[in-house]
Amino acid sequence: MSTPFLSVRDLKVHFSTEDGVVKAVDGLSFDLEKGKTLGIVGESGSGKSVTNMAILGLHDRRNTALDGEILLDGKELVTATERELEQLRGNKMSMIFQDALASLSPYHTIGAQIGETYRKHTGASKKEARARAVEMLRRVGIPQPDVRVDEYPHQFSGGMRQRAMIAMALVCDPELLIADEPTTALDVTVQAQIMDLLKDLQQEFGTAIIFITHDLGVIADVADDVLVMYGGRCVERGAKNEVLRAPQHPYTLGLLGSMPSLDGPVDVPLSPIPGSPPSLLNPPSGCRFHPRCAFAEKVEGGRCSAERPALEVVDGRGSACHLTSGQKRELFADYASARTH
Ligand code: SF4
Repeated sequence: MSTPFLSVRDLKVHFSTEDGVVKAVDGLSFDLEKGKTLGIVGESGSGKSVTNMAILGLHDRRNTALDGEILLDGKELVTATERELEQLRGNKMSMIFQDALASLSPYHTIGAQIGETYRKHTGASKKEARARAVEMLRRVGIPQPDVRVDEYPHQFSGGMRQRAMIAMALVCDPELLIADEPTTALDVTVQAQIMDLLKDLQQEFGTAIIFITHDLGVIADVADDVLVMYGGRCVERGAKNEVLRAPQHPYTLGLLGSMPSLDGPVDVPLSPIPGSPPSLLNPPSGCRFHPRCAFAEKVEGGRCSAERPALEVVDGRGSACHLTSGQKRELFADYASARTH
């Protein structure tokens, strides 16, 4: 079996605060191959963004403890120095965020910012970097790139700024791109354009992408595999179609129930998950989802609140829940029929 391009093993990201230790990520493992997209989904506070900040080495080192293993193309990142990580960022791995305006400097032209990243990692001249910036703007679909390259971020629309940020992220042909809710602030049409652009660029460059979102509809559009996070842990993972069509965890089921049906009737009422995400300072015992889970009482002996369910993964597919497969088939059936017929 080939070694995955990115391999995360038993990752723990814990923050020290005045009130105690926040276990933001608590034993997470996954793999990602080149040219594939992994969608990480969960509510805010589930640990998805924290995981990716740790991969990029952008966590606050003064109060954050990392444990476990992050191997990027064989290079261990948990123990890497800040200098080594800086060399990898923008070059081998890159990121795009939700808010392009906050990520771009208002004082420098778009071209200067794209060119600066390129120069830093390649040692190119200013002239070469400008030419590269024009080429990248053309690739991400900015009209008149040789003119727009000298404009400032405030002269670009929201969708164009997002494209410019993608151009900046991809200027050194990174092999891993982390996209954290990159389309959330955009209107639906521009969202669709940006998603198509990312898919085209992935085909062209063979980039591995981690796509972070709270929206399973976005996952349905872009991901090959899905990892569902709750309370700092993975509760379910697998190929996108399997997870979306036949969820094996009550939390995934809840997420699907709180969004419009992917291909079923449009008049199925939405049912948000009751309650709020758990505190990671004092997380619930046993299964962290148990205070919100509609099925906890179906598991005998109070195991849901007493015992952490193991994540059993076979051929990349797994879920962490005490329900038996027979119980899931029976209990989840009503949901499935309501949403697909
Ligand atoms: Fe619900 Fe229990 Fe499964 Fe957790 S382990 S998801 S509480 S049924």
